[in-house]
Formats: sequence, structure tokens, C-alpha cells
Amino acid sequence: MKTQLFAKESACAAIVETGHALIEKKLVAGSWGNISCRIDAQNIAITPSGHGYETLTPEDVVIINRDGEVVEGKHIPSSELKVHTAIYNAYPEAGAVIHTHSIYASALAAMHHGVPAIIEDIVQIIGGRVECAEYALCGTQELAENTVRALNGKKAVLLANHGAVCWGKNLAEALLAAEILEKAAQIAVICAGTGNKVYELSCEDVDVMHDFYEKHYSKRQQGEE
Ligand code: 13P
Ligand code: ZN
Repeated sequence: MKTQLFAKESACAAIVETGHALIEKKLVAGSWGNISCRIDAQNIAITPSGHGYETLTPEDVVIINRDGEVVEGKHIPSSELKVHTAIYNAYPEAGAVIHTHSIYASALAAMHHGVPAIIEDIVQIIGGRVECAEYALCGTQELAENTVRALNGKKAVLLANHGAVCWGKNLAEALLAAEILEKAAQIAVICAGTGNKVYELSCEDVDVMHDFYEKHYSKRQQGEE
């Protein structure tokens, strides 16, 4: 799967569509969480700060550059733009970033726990155990730095006492990562509640599954193989 770059108009429309999906999948509530995608090497489309997803229109989406400066738009960009730009700057293959406040991921994040590598689909798409980034106040450079540090080559991270961030090569993959992350977090919480031993997958098997996902399975999902 290639990193997908959008024309400005289609990027803004795709962000609105993804916002509707986040609400439908109960990964966000109200105006919290945020979505962005790359337009080209310099420019990024990002949700405006404090706007609910149900009423969001493509014209509300803000265009920023990779330094986080507003290029175009009538609203204030997401207050987490530093997290978004830090991920694009750290991962050139990232085409989209989604920040959610989903329930089970947030429950683990409240305990400063990550999501263990215990289920096949999450390790395929994310690349292994999801770490919980050290706590920092929302909207800060420190949060952006902690997020990138805890990502450590993977496609998802939890934010302590806050929520989750996922990236993908395009919005469809970032949305799928957010959905699968929340499912894995729910499984981890259910397992922890039983008090039984939970078996983590080996690093070797995680690597095999993630490699298969990157080289083949993700392409099948996008109709490219
Ligand atoms: P914005 O509405 O500014 O994107 O912020 C929501 C949020 O989730 C902050 O962490
Ligand atoms: Zn948030």
C-alpha cells in the first residue's frame, strides 16, 4: 500500500467522511479527537479545533504546513496539531493521523498501561505491543515528543490519561488502526478482569505477521493484490 496523497478538496471531504465514521464507531464523542491527512510533501489537512463531527463540512477543514503554520482556513486548527506534524515529520510514509478518545484505550491509558501484543489483527496492523506515552498536558510540544518517542516504529500509541493516536498510509488505514486498537484494548481489559494469565505473542511471530500485513494483507484490503 502506497502513502496516499490527496488533492486539497478530496482531502477535506475525506476528513469529514472519516469524522462521521469515528462517531458511528463510537471512537470519539462530541468534538474531542482529531483527524488529519497529508495533501503533499508540505501541506496537511486537519480538523478545526472544537468542532463536532456531525456538522463538520469540507470548508471547515484547515490546511497547515508541516511546521504547524496555518496555510488556509477560516477556523483554528486542532489543538493537537503538534502531535500530528511530529508524526508526519518522523514517519514520511504516514499519510493520515487520527487521535481518538475511545473508551477501552482510554481506560488502559488512565492506568498508564499499553495494549499487549495478544491478538493477531492488532499486531498485523500496528506492529506489536502498543506503548502508553508518558503523560503531558494536551496540546503541548511535550505531548508531541512523548507520542513520537512511544510510537517507536509502530502505528499506534496510547496517551496517558487521555486517549490514543494512530497513523496509517491513508485515512482508511488510520481509521482501521483506530478501530482495531480499540478492539484490542477491550480484549485486554476483559482478560485483565478475569485474573487469568494472558499469553503475549512472541516477537518473532509478531514480526512475521506485521511483515505479511505490510507486504500483502494491507494490499488485499485496498484491492491492490
Ligand atoms: P481539538 O478539538 O482542538 O482537535 O482537540 C480535541 C482533543 O482531543 C485534544 O486532545
Ligand atoms: Zn484528545
